[in-house]
Formats: sequence, C-alpha cells, structure tokens
Amino acid sequence: MTVRRVMGIETEYGISVPGDPAANPMILSGQVVNAYASAQGIRAAHASWDYADEAPLRDARGFEMGRGVADPSQLTDEEDPTLANVVLTNGARLYVDHAHPEYSSPEVTTPRAAVAFDRAGEAIMAESVRRLSQVPPGVNLYKNNTDGKGQSYGTHENYLMRRETPFTDIVRHLVPFFVARQVVTGSGRVGIGVDSRTAGYQLSQRSDFFEVEVGLETTLKRPIINTRDEPHAVADLYRRLHVIIGDANHCDVANLLKLGMTSLVLAMIEDRAIDADLTVARPVATLQTISHDPTCTALLELRDGTKLTAVQLMWRYHGLAERYLESRYAGAPDDDTAEVMRWWGTVLDKLERDPMEASRELDWVAKQQVLQGYIERDGLDWSDSRLRAIDIQWSDVRPDRGIFHKLRAAGRFEELVSTETVLDAVHEPPVDTRAYFRGKCLEKYPDQIAAASWDSVIFDIPGQPSLQRVPMLEPLRGTRATVGPLLDRSPDAATLLRELASASG
Ligand code: ATP
Ligand code: MG
Ligand code: MG
Repeated sequence: MTVRRVMGIETEYGISVPGDPAANPMILSGQVVNAYASAQGIRAAHASWDYADEAPLRDARGFEMGRGVADPSQLTDEEDPTLANVVLTNGARLYVDHAHPEYSSPEVTTPRAAVAFDRAGEAIMAESVRRLSQVPPGVNLYKNNTDGKGQSYGTHENYLMRRETPFTDIVRHLVPFFVARQVVTGSGRVGIGVDSRTAGYQLSQRSDFFEVEVGLETTLKRPIINTRDEPHAVADLYRRLHVIIGDANHCDVANLLKLGMTSLVLAMIEDRAIDADLTVARPVATLQTISHDPTCTALLELRDGTKLTAVQLMWRYHGLAERYLESRYAGAPDDDTAEVMRWWGTVLDKLERDPMEASRELDWVAKQQVLQGYIERDGLDWSDSRLRAIDIQWSDVRPDRGIFHKLRAAGRFEELVSTETVLDAVHEPPVDTRAYFRGKCLEKYPDQIAAASWDSVIFDIPGQPSLQRVPMLEPLRGTRATVGPLLDRSPDAATLLRELASASG
C-alpha cells in the first residue's frame, strides 16, 4: 500500500528591472512568459472550458481562451500581457498572475516529484531571465514571497482530497498544523511586519500577511485556510484543497516536508485518524508570534490551556502520523512516505536541540546563519539595509547570482533531487498522472493542439470543422502505463483521437 496523493505547487516569482523600480511588472511578466514559450516554440494556450455548455464543441473557435505565444517583440504596452498563458511539455502552466510570472507545476503523486517539478519551474524562470538579459537591462526574478516593502505574492500548494471529507474537519486539524509547520517550512525573512518596519528576523516570508482564519480571498484579508473550491476534476468525488499559507522553498528537505507532512496530515483527516483536539487559541496572532521567534521557544496555547512550543506541536502531529502509519500500513509505508517521516523526525530533533543545526535542511535556518555571519563580520544590526538586500538576493533565480544557488553548488545543503532529474522535469511530464497525456500531446502534436487546461486537451485537427476536446476529469488517468503505447503508435493527433474514440466504444 502506498500513501499517494495528487498534488501540485504554484509559484509566483518576484520581478524587477535592474535600475528601474518603476518598470511595469505586468508587461515584464508577460515578456518572461513569452520569452520562454517562444524559444520553445510553444503555442498552446491554457484555457478553461465551460462544462455547463458543451455546445462550443461544434462552433468552438469562438470560445474564450488565453492566447498562446507571441513573439516577445510583438508584445507591446497596449496588449494585455495577462493573456500570456501557456502549457508546457512537462504538463505545467506558465502564465502571468497578479503582475507576477507564475509557474504551476503539473500534477504529481509524491513529495519528491513535487520538489523536482517545482525546481524545474525555477530552471524555466532562470532560462527566461537569461534570454531577456540579452536585451539590457533585462529582468530579475526571485523565488520569494515578499518584496520587503509591503507586497506579498504566493506559493500555493494544491492537494486532491475526497469530497466527502467534511470541510470543518479540514479546518480544525489544519489550522494548528499550519500555525506550527513554519518552523520547518519557513524560508526566512529580514524585517517584521508587512512592510518590514520593525527590525529583526523571522521564520516565514508570508505569516505577517495573514489576517483571518478561514476565507475565500487570496490577496486581501488572507486566510490561514482558503476555501477556494475549483477541483479541476470530478467535483462529486474530489476537492482540490488550495493552500496559500506556504513560503517558496529552496531547500529540498524543507520543500519535501512541506508537501509530505501536509499530505500525511490530510490522509489522517480523511481517515478520521486524529482524535486529539489541537485547536490553537488566537491562531492568527499565534502564527505571527511563532514566526517572530527564531529561538523556537515561544509557547503557544491550545484551547484546552496546554502550553507548548511549535516544535512540540509538530511532534504531536508526527506522533499521530507514526501511529496512523502503524495501524494502517503496519508501519511499513512506501519509500516516499518513509523518507518524509525520517526527515520530519530529524529536523524536529535538530530544532529542539539548537535550530542552527538544521542549516543543511531548512531555508530559514540557512539564511539566518548567512546573515549572522555578515552581522558579526561587519558589525551590522538587523535594521541595516544590506541585510535586506541579502535577503532578496538569496532568492535570485540566476545560478551565478542567487546566494542560495551559490551555496548549493558549494555543497551546503542536503540535496534530495539531482540536477539531472530537475532538467528532465523541465521537458518531461510526470508519468503517473494525467499530466503525462497533456505533456506528451503537446510534445508530439504541438501544431494540432489549440489549448489545454488541467482537465482537458483541446485539439485542432487540420480539415476538421470543429475543435475536439478530450476531457481528463480523473487526475490519475492518462498515465504512461495507460496511454503510453497509444501515443507511441499515433503519428498524428487525428489517429490518436480515432483510437481514443474506438477504445472508449
Ligand atoms: P491562482 O491561485 O493562481 O489563481 P489556481 O490555484 O486556480 O490559480 P493554477 O495556477 O492553474 O490554479 O494551478 C493549479 C495547480 O493545482 C497546479 O499546480 C496543478 O498541478 C494542481 N492541480 C490541478 N488539478 C488538481 C487536482 N484535482 N488536485 C490537486 N492539484 C491539482
Ligand atoms: Mg495559479
Ligand atoms: Mg493558486
């Protein structure tokens, strides 16, 4: 038995033009997307389909969709760069969201694959930066979540869940977990408060930007639990849980744990395996208190009056997960789950002894260690603007400029996914979800695809009067095992569609 779950990470990247703080981020983001897509010859738009009205199948050419790619030089100030919205051969989506370039990973089923495809996104952004640098001044992109001046942009996790699971259970068990998990998943930030007005260092990039416990918004009054409910799958069976509270991680271990621990907690929620009431008093204020305490000794209070540290609360979830895996899988889950449990215990041990011991595993610890080095060497204090500059430069996506990347190249981090695997993931889709069908169709029949969304691929077959849509509402269908041979023997999309039609009778 394995503990698998369909999931994906979206990352919005911070953007700036060297020497031009007034540059229009919307236009720039469009250029980032188009620079990559045009270099790859990608034209298929990411488009949504209105299921309520299947009629467009007949006269579909008029349906609303984002434009595929334009030559970047064609993108002028007058055009709407939010239209830059494409699907890549690895099954990912690359587009402009909230005036940031965003990479939404393809659906994967393991935390390890999530790390690989998230890093692939960063490699894609770095490639775009490289291309645009040929036209000075170019752009810079940052895998972080705040510009330090009051703006925040998101990294979202998406988890497939059973529809039948009551949302109240999700809220009850996830809120305390999200309040605590930043001790592991935070990526570290210079400055306290949304605009960094107060000097200091904190665990999380995002925590100061959260205002309420539960809600639908993602950019205003941000909620710890987001209620967005767009499953991109059979709605009666599935929910896509949209998690907006995470930081963008660079460290493989932190990223693996972000997805892996959360997925396990969701499994326990679905299986009603959490009997403890870990409800935290004043969750939003507590979220910020925990983030503002790099010693990891601050006490939080549970509703029943128990006082404990965030690390101890994480141990409670770890213990529940151990017991759950014991009872359900006789303590022998799949390798991916075992790996998550091992790292989970390892980092909590380190955080408990001395957080600085986790500098090879956790972003916030590694960043703090580097900043501390500057403070001691140059006699700086936390209000120094040089520290803020280092914080930003930490996340620069360029391999030769980003501080994280330079340190990784120097062997300073536990690396779980090799560079080769990441580079593969730039072009090759995951083999075990519908992203395989989407990505391979785009690779094999680029000229015969008008558009794709998470749950369909829309073909434009030469000589056919209408577009044809292949629905993919089951995220675990369309895998290499099921459609690989069919794709291999279909030289063109017309053959593929004929075979699909005959296979489905
Ligand atoms: P935004 O928050 O930027 O407005 P969004 O959350 O609606 O957008 P996308 O940016 O399109 O959506 O990204 C969707 C993410 O969810 C992708 O990473 C994708 O792999 C993942 N995903 C798609 N369908 C499912 C599903 N049914 N279950 C879990 N994850 C999914
Ligand atoms: Mg998105
Ligand atoms: Mg999102």
